[in-house]
Amino acid sequence: MSTIPSNTIPDATGHFGPYGGMFVPETLMAALHDLTEHYAQAKDDPSFQQELDYLLREYVGRPTPLYFAERWTEKLGGAKIYMKREDLLHTGAHKINNAMGQILLAKRMGKSRIIAETGAGQHGVATATVAARFGFECIIYMGAVDMERQALNVARMRFLGAKVVAVTAGQATLKEAINEAMRDWVSNVRETHYILGSALGSHPYPMMVRDFHRIIGVEARRQILETEERLPDLLVACVGGGSNAIGLFHPFLEDEGVRMVGVEAGGERIETGMHAARFQGGKLGVLQGTKTYLLADDDGQIQLTHSVSAGLDYAAIGPEHAFYRDQGRTEYAYALDEEALGAFQEVSEVEGIIPALETAHGLAYVSKEAPKMGKGDIIVVNCSGRGDKDVEQAAKHIFGDDSPLEA
Ligand SMILES: *Cc1c(COP(=O)(O)O)cnc(C)c1O
Repeated sequence: MSTIPSNTIPDATGHFGPYGGMFVPETLMAALHDLTEHYAQAKDDPSFQQELDYLLREYVGRPTPLYFAERWTEKLGGAKIYMKREDLLHTGAHKINNAMGQILLAKRMGKSRIIAETGAGQHGVATATVAARFGFECIIYMGAVDMERQALNVARMRFLGAKVVAVTAGQATLKEAINEAMRDWVSNVRETHYILGSALGSHPYPMMVRDFHRIIGVEARRQILETEERLPDLLVACVGGGSNAIGLFHPFLEDEGVRMVGVEAGGERIETGMHAARFQGGKLGVLQGTKTYLLADDDGQIQLTHSVSAGLDYAAIGPEHAFYRDQGRTEYAYALDEEALGAFQEVSEVEGIIPALETAHGLAYVSKEAPKMGKGDIIVVNCSGRGDKDVEQAAKHIFGDDSPLEA
């Protein structure tokens, strides 16, 4: 395998090989170039890094532990499993790494107003949190269907002072929320920064969001070397847009012996079409600013997606994942709804950790893979978020009519 020159991609136009780029309305091009330039300057400015490091440590809660899941390892009877505990971060998921980086950038650019989209609400909560912390006006676009499914997170955003705008177009979920946020940005670009929530969209977002999440892999690499005095054999992370996965994977790209597997949402089954596994039957196309693998019909119309976890329920995957997959550097599997729910329950019972349903997709893959590996082998799985937001939905699936939440 060739060594991936990770520090030279994307290129200046935001391309990861044939993927990525800047597919946006002309009215946004100036803003995106401006953002690219400010980000490049900030990245090289020690005072920016210092402030970010300080906030990540004192406010967000970094570094997160790399926890050895002893009982789960014993139960599965194979490789040693370590969990990178992003679920312990302030607001309960990895999303705040990126939100914090971008709000500092917005401050630096002299913006006064923040907008964002959200699906399950975790990115909306993270954005509303940093906007509150820095005194920005904050507007979150959210599909009306998602607002109903994730009422708890809607309430959190409102307590944090954000205005949550219901989007009723189309499927009324994440894709439509992004469209609405982009429409807002076009009209208010001068004073507004758009905090995009995954390694998606037009350049420079996939690169910038990746960079802000790289801390996950940088810490995990250092921690496993301290504990085990060697690198892991396998890294696993769930993949919606791909931000928590690329954050974990990126610092290991040049470590040839480390396998990396991203786990997509297999939904009800691939054959039913009710899924969000872009690498199972997806095709090359353009969606919301970037060229990548996506789920579309023969006319190029974006297909409906399905997953038990709202955070994985999106038709496109981040362009950098498509690039490394072509190189054979990263691999992609999928977990079905029922497999994710099984892992959700198993890890809760065996480790006392209730994971997010998104995270549970990665855990489901681990539960199948670990027993096939040797006892001396090491897996690091990213625990991208905690499951509090999913308790009601999981209870319905797992306990059925006996759900303690049913009246
Ligand atoms: C949003 C979210 C995801 C999916 O987003 P990525 O950009 O693929 O990381 C995964 N896990 C949790 C807990 C999330 O909130």
